[in-house]
Amino acid sequence: MTKNIWCVGRNYKDHAKELGNPLPKNPLIFLKSGSCLTPNSSFSIAQNLGEIHYELEVALRFAKDLSFDAYTLALDLTAREQQKLAKEQGTPWTLAKSFKSSCPLGSWQSLTHISSLYNKNFNLLLNDKQVQTANTNEMLFDFNRLASYILSHFPVEAGDILLTGTPAGVGALKPGDQLCASMEPNFKVQWQVKN
Ligand code: ZN
Repeated sequence: MTKNIWCVGRNYKDHAKELGNPLPKNPLIFLKSGSCLTPNSSFSIAQNLGEIHYELEVALRFAKDLSFDAYTLALDLTAREQQKLAKEQGTPWTLAKSFKSSCPLGSWQSLTHISSLYNKNFNLLLNDKQVQTANTNEMLFDFNRLASYILSHFPVEAGDILLTGTPAGVGALKPGDQLCASMEPNFKVQWQVKN
């Protein structure tokens, strides 16, 4: 069953700044189609959409009671040139955010209480070089505020996924790139961009 992927834009100050965006007063929510999910350890960026950027994000899964029952790390792949065009033209972000295989996802880790994800460092290595690093307590809207905002406005269902925003350091991918994401204390996900 395909799930909804609720995503948050500009939830880390330094990332909003690097793209020249103002900070939002309320969570900036957009969707990726559930069929964008790719659980595989390799993915293709051959989409003819211009530069495809990685955005490392903490992902949460909604349980039956709509609390969170699992977390992982995900890539909110973004066709940056398409997004720039959409911003200029005031058009939707669908092509920039919801193209094929645009949501590579690590394995789900069970979560008893969301507080166990407070104050956790996470980071992304691209070909062994660190490109993104942040702490979950640097989010503009924390896990609980995101959850209450999303649950109050949208038809969230059990199994839906929430991507909680990316920190600074986003950049373009190329075929053959190796990505290694980690989160404290010892969770790791590895991806390879297909040639
Ligand atoms: Zn994102």
